[in-house]
Amino acid sequence: MSIVELPDNVVITRLDQLVSWCRKNSLWPMPFATACCGIELMATGASRHDIARFGAEVFRFSPRQCDLMIVAGRVVMKMMPVLQRIWQQMHEPKWCVSMGACASTGGVFDTYSVVQGIDRFLPVDMYVPGCPPRPEQLIQAIIDLQAKIQAEGTAMGHEFEAPSRQEPKRALQE
Ligand code: SF4
Repeated sequence: MSIVELPDNVVITRLDQLVSWCRKNSLWPMPFATACCGIELMATGASRHDIARFGAEVFRFSPRQCDLMIVAGRVVMKMMPVLQRIWQQMHEPKWCVSMGACASTGGVFDTYSVVQGIDRFLPVDMYVPGCPPRPEQLIQAIIDLQAKIQAEGTAMGHEFEAPSRQEPKRALQE
């Protein structure tokens, strides 16, 4: 059997790998900024930190054009249906970053009106700790998310059929 020599300018890969590579380098964020963490989110997009270096600078304000939800700031119960509707309007594949202590745990607002962690209602992929978190931390979360997308992504989106993503959220089980 003869061995075919490929020229130097030819690269071969798996389709899954190529699709994941495209997805991870073209994240379009949907900013859901409700409080002070939103300022850090804005700083992440500004020139000093420049989130464009990671292909995630195209902030859109239509959920149908986004695939990365970034929740920055506290979310009150009254706001939760709005957040859920925006999340549902985003197309698969989509990911969610919970930015800051308030979005992740309710932060210092330990009260009935503030959601004690958005992961009770949404599937969160990355948590950014801190109050407020630095832009570098959000960038690190995006880098980690890119690694996750590259490792788990499939061209047909089978990763989204995983039972863990379909389970009811904590608050609905309690
Ligand atoms: S985590 Fe801190 S900085 Fe962020 S919204 Fe809450 S209080 Fe503000």
